Amino acid sequence: MAVIVHEENGKTLSEAIAEVEKSIELTEFACSLPQLVQGEILEVSKGVECRSERHPLGGVASIAPFNFPNMVPHWTLPKAITLGNAMILKPSEQVPISAIRIAELLTEAGLPDGIFNIVNGDRESVEAICDHADIDAVSFVGSTKVAKIVYQRATGHNKRVLTLGGAKNYLLVLPDANHEMTSSDVTASMSGCAGQRCMAAAAVIAVGNVDGIINGICEKAKTIIPGKNLGAIISKEAQTRIENYITEAEEQGADILVDGRGATVKNKENGFYVGPTVIDHVTPEMSIAQEEVFGPVLSIIRVDTVEQALEIENSSQYGNAAAVFTQSGGLAKYVAANVSAGMIGVNIGVPVPREPFSFGGWNQSKFGVGDLTGKSSIEFWTKLKKITTKWNPEAKTNWMS
Ligand code: NAD
Repeated sequence: MAVIVHEENGKTLSEAIAEVEKSIELTEFACSLPQLVQGEILEVSKGVECRSERHPLGGVASIAPFNFPNMVPHWTLPKAITLGNAMILKPSEQVPISAIRIAELLTEAGLPDGIFNIVNGDRESVEAICDHADIDAVSFVGSTKVAKIVYQRATGHNKRVLTLGGAKNYLLVLPDANHEMTSSDVTASMSGCAGQRCMAAAAVIAVGNVDGIINGICEKAKTIIPGKNLGAIISKEAQTRIENYITEAEEQGADILVDGRGATVKNKENGFYVGPTVIDHVTPEMSIAQEEVFGPVLSIIRVDTVEQALEIENSSQYGNAAAVFTQSGGLAKYVAANVSAGMIGVNIGVPVPREPFSFGGWNQSKFGVGDLTGKSSIEFWTKLKKITTKWNPEAKTNWMS
């Protein structure tokens, strides 16, 4: 499975192996769900008992993006089927092969026919899923633009819907942060999977003088080489979009400290690469400070106080992840409490919560209630039945007739 991810998506083989390992972890958690979905029972009045049970929804759909062709299907598929549903997966048309391998392995493992199904295609297939009367729930992971469309269209057909959108993750770096750990974590966060991750560091908000850490980030970024320890960008169009953001920032007065434009890889001349790029003196008004670039590009926004840093983070339309790097417990707690994002890292550059905690952002990074993974998956992929029983017709009280 990792080789397929590596070949169809273009991420490095070690990143693809890590992706499949995460899928295994997600599946292991899903296997514990039958033990976790126990209902509740309570005698609510003399001789009257209330009981709740979780039931599957029926037929559910999962629409996936290009950047994690193996892991994102594992956010939804193992939970939906261990909770009793049948699933239709619509993989990204840019990476349709991983899904087929997952289906082959499930068949080999003995999953009955019809429980897991794949529908390929792009917009038209997604619209058909949103409109189809026999589909009870729709989950979506992708850009905010499409997440909004899918949320509105599928809820318009009275379905249960949760859609995860894009991201712009700000990492607040304070002057007392550990130099080595912070520069390593930030560099890995901005460059892993060539920055094509919804949890990638998009911008460092440098509070006060953190020049030593910024120098460390630049030094480390220069050791990340396209085609060696940096994978490809998904398409020519994406490569052009990323490079245009860098050029526009430069024209608006930002300083390019490390420039990844024009990267090529020997013997892979037809591949699309952008090298790690670090841009200093980005201002909050610039597009590169606000919009999702989705490439290995780190903006540095300089401020004097933690309050100014929080104001920038809070003004983002997104809210997937945020992080703070500091040695001060009090400041870490203060920042964690005041950033407007769903997943927060303290001295962690990619703060993905591990099971049983769930994955999911805030603001325009997610539409709908709850999360798709972790314990929240139970709420999303099942419906609750409440049974009230009375066994003592002789009782004098007859308030529940
Ligand atoms: P995308 O929105 O272009 O595509 C996602 C899915 O929607 C694909 O299956 C695609 O076929 C379909 N689609 C595309 N346009 C459509 C339309 N107009 N109507 C209906 N369906 C349509 O996203 P992408 O480029 O594949 O993935 C990258 C995006 O996904 C980034 O914005 C990234 O942040 C986001 N993402 C978010 C998370 C998260 O957890 N929040 C995780 C992974 C990726």
